[in-house]
Amino acid sequence: MIDIRTFMLVLGIGNIGFALLMAGYARGQASHPAMRVWAIARLVQGCAHLAGWLRPDLPSNGVAAAANTALIIGTALELAAYCVFLGLRRWLSALLPLTLLAVMAMVGARALHMPLAKLMVLMSTLLGLYSMAMAWLLLRPGAHGSVLQQMIGWNNLVFAIAMGARAWYGVGAPHTHLFSAGAIQSITFLTGYFVMIVNGFGFLLLCKEKDDARMIQLATIDSLTGLINRHAFFDRTDSARALSLRQRSPIALMMIDLDHFKKINDCFGHATGDEALVLFAATARATLRDHDIMGRLGGEEFALVLPATDLEGAILAAERLRMTVAAAVLPTSGGDYSMTISVGVVVIDPHEHINAALARADHALYAAKTGGRNRVNVGHTQLRVVGR
Ligand code: GH3
Ligand code: MG
Ligand code: MG
Repeated sequence: MIDIRTFMLVLGIGNIGFALLMAGYARGQASHPAMRVWAIARLVQGCAHLAGWLRPDLPSNGVAAAANTALIIGTALELAAYCVFLGLRRWLSALLPLTLLAVMAMVGARALHMPLAKLMVLMSTLLGLYSMAMAWLLLRPGAHGSVLQQMIGWNNLVFAIAMGARAWYGVGAPHTHLFSAGAIQSITFLTGYFVMIVNGFGFLLLCKEKDDARMIQLATIDSLTGLINRHAFFDRTDSARALSLRQRSPIALMMIDLDHFKKINDCFGHATGDEALVLFAATARATLRDHDIMGRLGGEEFALVLPATDLEGAILAAERLRMTVAAAVLPTSGGDYSMTISVGVVVIDPHEHINAALARADHALYAAKTGGRNRVNVGHTQLRVVGR
């Protein structure tokens, strides 16, 4: 059997340690706002456990009520941190009155000198319900959480079950209390310790996982069109080229440039120019296959890689794209406007550097521009140096 009072001290120190760790991490500008709420939750819970540890030395109903109030508020803050993390802030308005109600029930029970066993049942039930709510938030079908998120969710569910078992045990054992020894008490506190460690590190990692994903998004996605940027385009094209080399399948490349784009900016303003870029990107995306790679190389220049596509297929795709863009309508202050594009198409040689293929496609694009615009032009095949 474990000594519950010593365990309270361990939980108190552990939670305060986590609070300090998280407060330090949360000071970073890139960290998730939920982290601050979580750090406060851990601090309040840690203080509650320390007060619990002191209770036998300070046998006052006030200290016990304060410790229990802190534990309820700390647990509610933990639930609030999940709401913030999952973008469910609207739930906070329901959480506040429910928590007030829970605190009033507990303080009222103490004021009415409810037997200790019944108080234990009440607290176990409240903490179990909070834990159940956390488990539901993290595991609910619409959450689509990462493996880490699911692990924390299951952990909360296990703790909720342990708390339920403790409440059940308290109903049938009228002389039990917070510090009484026994298998159920030991299991509950050990589960609580496990939850503190796994969820403490887990939430830290969960926030980091989300922050990292946001950083990757900022570093690779063009914020205006939602297409990948130049850097990401080169990365993904290199992988696609290596795959096509292994599979011995052709891979095509297009350079696309909007015709007379400067005129849209000059006539209707820069904001309409931006809308034109967004419309083009959306129109192009709708005509492409899932595994085609389209990127914004800069300004109104785009590149498109079509894996498993030969020259005939690429020309057909380019023509389809050209016609779809021409048919799309851009609403402007001067009425509806139709954009056109010029396209340069090549097939990438499997051993060719992507820059060389882009230069060939760019050359073909230039020829499409000088040839009158709104057209698709095929580039030269790669010149191979066979000998000197
Ligand atoms: P061409 O048919 O020869 O391609 O002519 P163009 O006018 O499309 O080409 P040019 O290179 O002369 O002009 C490109 C313009 O695109 C100039 C630049 O101000 C504008 N531009 C670049 N990036 C953006 C952007 O993000 N938003 C807006 N609105 N305009 C941009
Ligand atoms: Mg242009
Ligand atoms: Mg251009």
